[in-house]
Amino acid sequence: MWRPGRPAAPGYAAQCEQLTDARAAEPWLKAGSQTVQQQALRNLDQAWRNFYAGPHGRPTWRREGVHEGFRIVGAAAQRVEKLNRKWGRVLVPKVGWVKLRLSRKLPDAKSYRVTRDRAGRWHLAFAVIPEPIQAPGNGDVVGVDRGVTVSAALSTGELLSCPSPSGREQQRFKHLQRKLARAKRGSNRRGKIRAAIARFKARESDRRKNWVEHTTTDLARRFDIIALEDLRIRNMTKSARGTIEAPGRNVRRKAGLNRGILAQGWGLLVQRLEQKAPGRVEKVNPAYTSQTCSACGHVASENRENQAVFRCVACRHKANADVNAAINIERISAAGRAVDARRETAVLVSEKREPQHAPPAVA
Ligand SMILES: [Zn+2]
Repeated sequence: MWRPGRPAAPGYAAQCEQLTDARAAEPWLKAGSQTVQQQALRNLDQAWRNFYAGPHGRPTWRREGVHEGFRIVGAAAQRVEKLNRKWGRVLVPKVGWVKLRLSRKLPDAKSYRVTRDRAGRWHLAFAVIPEPIQAPGNGDVVGVDRGVTVSAALSTGELLSCPSPSGREQQRFKHLQRKLARAKRGSNRRGKIRAAIARFKARESDRRKNWVEHTTTDLARRFDIIALEDLRIRNMTKSARGTIEAPGRNVRRKAGLNRGILAQGWGLLVQRLEQKAPGRVEKVNPAYTSQTCSACGHVASENRENQAVFRCVACRHKANADVNAAINIERISAAGRAVDARRETAVLVSEKREPQHAPPAVA
């Protein structure tokens, strides 16, 4: 409600006092945990700070079924136990001991967050910043190009593809969507179909995330520097629809491309890579990387035979289009250029030294 000229809006401390009064007045509020409610106010405070400080969006309302979760901090967050290899338990305030399936080692954390995803699964996430993955120290540089036909191509020639739903799964999904369209609003049946759709989507995104985790860990372990194209993914995936006065062009085509990019989880891949290998990810201007021949350097848009195949019009070099682009990305990265320079110096040095190693001339 704040506008210029009005007094400052209540901050975290003032809101905490209001919370105490509100809890005394409203039994339903008192039934909840005070720590959890205070944390929510703290989160709100942080969200406003972020909003006023820079690029963050305005805080939004939490929605039932979408933003389900809360944070536990302080002494209460320490009541976590491991029961055996598979199971642990946690004392959630006002709830009691809750068993949890351990998906990784219990960390030494000061807080945790409990969330419920759209598929109805509850998760417990501990706030820990993991150690970055150590660079192998072999000086290797890899270029990675995101593709639509494959998810990622490496300059080593490897093609990586993110698992996508099989034909049968897609059929089932379409079937569910049709059923949902026919189901009456607010009916039990509709709720069940929606839950099935949510489970389907969750399975798909779990697979995608798992693939991203495996791929990024592998890249961070194998290469010192990872060069990627500097895609403004947000701008690319923004709606091409435009306005009524100025309708966007290529709307259908762009919609297809958007689905491709988002389904392949490229944005998440870049984000996780930067977290796992901080300072070892280099972003490269992708201009012409898809049109340049990685064998002779010839640049022409005709080089691209089709979406998947690259064929150089100058030297007839034929390659997978995404791998060709990945090699170019590796070459134009600063790290790639440094490797090239080292190679050239090594050649020059060995040429200079040659006479010394040559047998002495016989007079
Ligand atoms: Zn060529």
